Amino acid sequence: MKPVVIVHGGAGRWSAVFEAARKKGLDITEERIIGGVKEAAMAGYRVLANGGSAVDAVTEAIAVMEGSGLFNAGVASALSAGGEVLMDAGIMDGLSRRAVGVLCLRYPKHPIRLARLLLSKTTHVMLGCEYADRLAMEYGLEKHSGPHPRALAMYEWARERARMGDERYSGNRELLERLGLVGDTVGAVAIDSRGNIAAGVSTGGTNYKVPGRIGDSPVPGAGYYALNGVGGAAATGLGEAILLASLTSRVVGYLEEGLAPESAGRRGLEVLSRLTGGEAGVIIIDSRGEYAAVFNTEAMPWAVVKDGIVEAGFWRR
Ligand code: ASP
Repeated sequence: MKPVVIVHGGAGRWSAVFEAARKKGLDITEERIIGGVKEAAMAGYRVLANGGSAVDAVTEAIAVMEGSGLFNAGVASALSAGGEVLMDAGIMDGLSRRAVGVLCLRYPKHPIRLARLLLSKTTHVMLGCEYADRLAMEYGLEKHSGPHPRALAMYEWARERARMGDERYSGNRELLERLGLVGDTVGAVAIDSRGNIAAGVSTGGTNYKVPGRIGDSPVPGAGYYALNGVGGAAATGLGEAILLASLTSRVVGYLEEGLAPESAGRRGLEVLSRLTGGEAGVIIIDSRGEYAAVFNTEAMPWAVVKDGIVEAGFWRR
């Protein structure tokens, strides 16, 4: 089996991210974002090329994006309306058919590493709050260093549009619609040389969210899903819509029915927008190593590595 890894850097209003960054003099450009997703995909591919597992490839690819300061995950995680870092992540191993989602984390710099560790150390599927943070500490994971300039720029951008301090609507559909969808979480899907498939995601959640709001990212079947012999998918976009549409389990179900990744992704997004009116993006790999990056938002940076060759995309054509 030829190994393949695909990553995304979030489907949302990237034009708003660039505008907010420019205002603050931050060096966050389209070029750097494309460089960031390519670097992450290459990191995942290196794991696979050295005989590593799909789960470890997904972890390493996501860890690169979490550490980059370019995406809404890890160090540059979006802030809640209270100005806090509250992160979610999840990973699923298609071989064991087990998943771990971690949620509402403040401590780790790399939430995906906590999810990956818990996959080996527990049989639980979801772990959250200070208890999960305590485990991250006990496992000696690196500590998060607090609000990042990128996150602060986006926080101000969202706050201005929420009409300064009007937090009554934060996290509500109404506010999100007024702000436009602004999310740029990260995700990865991989298939290794043994045909094992894994998928994962990591995020700070939506900008200016109600503290305690949890999106799709830690929930298997919503933010990510993987089954050996079928395929894997990782989602991004409005978490409420992705949750209500069970987006990634739906897309993997379409693969199981025999649809190609592109058609499975398109059908998943059609159902999501019919059910919820929401927008999202999804990356997919099937059991033959065919892949797709599909989104109905204005943009979603993504990169794939297959046969050692990297390919990337950004804007909706
Ligand atoms: N899905 C994430 C959430 O709702 C955000 C995103 O993908 O940008 O928390």
